[in-house]
Formats: sequence, C-alpha cells, structure tokens
Amino acid sequence: MDYIVFLGTAGARVVVFKQIRASGGLWFSLDGTEIMVDPGPGSLVKCLSKKEKLDPTKLSGIILTHRHLDHSADLNVMIEAMTNGGFKKKGVVFAPEDAIENDPVILKYLRGYVDGVNVLKEKGTYSIGDISFTTPIKHIHGKVETYGLKFKTSKYTISYITDTKFFEGLKEAYEESDLLIINVVRYAPSEYDHLCLDEAKELIKGIEPKMTVLTHFGMTMIRARPWEIAPKLTEELGLKVLCARDGMKLDLQEIS
Ligand SMILES: [Zn+2]
Repeated sequence: MDYIVFLGTAGARVVVFKQIRASGGLWFSLDGTEIMVDPGPGSLVKCLSKKEKLDPTKLSGIILTHRHLDHSADLNVMIEAMTNGGFKKKGVVFAPEDAIENDPVILKYLRGYVDGVNVLKEKGTYSIGDISFTTPIKHIHGKVETYGLKFKTSKYTISYITDTKFFEGLKEAYEESDLLIINVVRYAPSEYDHLCLDEAKELIKGIEPKMTVLTHFGMTMIRARPWEIAPKLTEELGLKVLCARDGMKLDLQEIS
C-alpha cells in the first residue's frame, strides 16, 4: 500500500518555532520504497511517537528541497537514524548545492555513513530504489536554492510544490500530476517569497490534479481555518482538495 505521512504541517517561522503545528516533514512510502522529504525540527521524534511508528532504518533516501531550518533541522538526525547511528552504511541524500557546499547543513562526518550525497539541479532526474523523481523547475525563494519534486511511481505522478514565490512556469512544471502537495504559507499576498491561497488556487485550477493536499501553513493560513477552506475549494473547483493535519496518513488509493 502506497501512502504519505505528514509529520508536520507548519510553515514559516512563527508556526514552526513556537510549534503551533509540528514540522517533521513528509514520509513517502511508494512501491515499497521509504523516502523522507524535508525533515524539519522534531522529525525523528514524530516518526517514533506515532502509534504506527515509522522506522527510520527502513528509509532508502532523504531529500531536502532547500536549506531553511524548518525543512532541514533534523536532516543530520535522520541520516544518523537511517544508518543506525552510522553502523549500517546505507541510503542516499539529495540536496541543492548551497545546502552541501557553503555553510553546509549536512555535517561532513556523517557523509560517509550514506551511500551518496547528491546535488540537486534544475530539471534533474534522480532515483531512490525503484522510485524516480525530477526537479522540474528552480523555485524563487529568497537567496536559498530551492527545488520542488515530481515523483513517478508505478501508479502515480506525485508533485510537491515546496516554498516558492508565484511565477510564470510553475504551473507547466507540475502539470500531469495525480496528486499535488502544495505549501500554502500565506492567506493573503505578501512581500515574502511564499505562495498565498489565491496563487495556490490558480495552480490547482491550472494543473487539475486528481487530488490536492494543502500544507505548510503560516499563521495567517491557520487563522483562516484551512480545514474549512479545503472543502470550499473542492466545491468551487470541482477538484478534490484536502487540508493536511499533523500526523495525517494519506492512503494513495484515495486519489482516484
Ligand atoms: Zn523556506
């Protein structure tokens, strides 16, 4: 059974660093391959404190979309957990170059614990186990190199639009997705390089995924009650839209 666990739904500084929502990232179980994406603060604790525990030693890889702390804080912790404290060399790590080279967020002494630390580039194609994924377009997100992800499994195409400013080309990059996971940090437009609700709506309308999950909420979104917004969007767009909850396990059979 393919599934995704939302180990956190917090976005932006206030919600993350006051832990108004959790910030553990996303756990993908696809065609029997386990992949962690963006292990933010508390990721390991969230994996192990679930009733149905997620075992980090089962991971085949960890992907970082960008180096901001709300996405990367537990990256080293998860590398150590994946490799059983470094006793079992395994797994691959993917991250943009600025997370690996200058002021790196991946500790150098851990790099030998894994089978490889790989640099993500725009329009790259990569694989972890039997799962391939691409980084279709470079996002605009402050000074930080940022890539969204598009996974191809035997049954589904799953896109994750991580933090970004809205720009021309985003829609085309994530077209033909069965499932779209989208970080909606802001309720209203702002000067920050983040999507707001109307921009997310425009992307959903353009991409027409079979299912969309809104996540990574900043304070303005939480105040606007995203759990009430999602059903309204479903009705308005005629496309299934869900609001992620902390710890939510999404069974991908629900996509069709
Ligand atoms: Zn960010």
